[in-house]
Amino acid sequence: MAIIDENKAQQYIWINGELIKWEEAKIHALTHSLHYSGAAFEGERAYEGKVFKLAEHTNRLIESARSLQMQEPYSFEEIIDAHKLIIKENRLVNCYIRPLIWRGGESLNMTNKMLSVNLMIATVHLTPRAEKNFDLNISRWRKPHPNSLPPQVKSSGHYNMNIVSQSEAKADGYDDAIMLDWRGYVAECTTTNIFFVQDQQLITPIADAFLNGITRQTIIELAKKLGLAVKEKYIKIEELDSYEECFMTGTALEVRGVNSITLTEKKIVFEYSKITQLLKKEYANLVRKEYE
Ligand code: PMP
Repeated sequence: MAIIDENKAQQYIWINGELIKWEEAKIHALTHSLHYSGAAFEGERAYEGKVFKLAEHTNRLIESARSLQMQEPYSFEEIIDAHKLIIKENRLVNCYIRPLIWRGGESLNMTNKMLSVNLMIATVHLTPRAEKNFDLNISRWRKPHPNSLPPQVKSSGHYNMNIVSQSEAKADGYDDAIMLDWRGYVAECTTTNIFFVQDQQLITPIADAFLNGITRQTIIELAKKLGLAVKEKYIKIEELDSYEECFMTGTALEVRGVNSITLTEKKIVFEYSKITQLLKKEYANLVRKEYE
């Protein structure tokens, strides 16, 4: 197995209450969730050893698992304690954290009652990368109708077309793709939410067909505290070039400026200016400040 990051070799992954060495943390080839995409997961970040919005992430993890008919195998408090343990044992201060609830390999039957429900919590060392504003295209793949895959469930099943969209975007020279919802409105990017700025006002899509990210909610609160108006609305592609700034939000990427969006017939270039930079700075202060 290729170990991408040398720190991982010394790390543990918390699996069902045990600390398992990174290279020994394996699951069976017949794992139910691997075959049917039925896993619930989170993407979290620790700053100075504390996970930002851990309660919100844990609640979302539990809710996602329940929506997939998996009763969480550990309680809210046990999941919080497991986070503290794994961060301490892996001696990490700033890291990305990936909890995942999945069905085991006891059966390939869709609904076998013998199937186990498992929890892992892995930490990933964050290596500093060059900050770059993103160039986006529009994916040809759309977010599913909320009646076919509930948008607030962070389930691995949601990510299939996001992965295809992101890899198609990268193959065409972009950093990521915007996905439209089933109606054709702008929804989100493949791992982040999206915001626009017009006349000192934030504009962002209504989160009824995509994940209402915890960072998105934090940015909306932060912007309001800073006295900025925030408007949630359905956004059509045709109106994108009336916006001055554009940025993405997500736990891993935090706040990231968007340089351009390429449509079939034109490329819209945004300014990387005042409001994006202000929110980026304020968010960075907030995530670090909470734990000083
Ligand atoms: N949309 C998608 C599809 C995502 O994967 C993520 C990352 N979890 C987000 C939005 C942003 O969510 P959050 O701010 O909670 O990280």
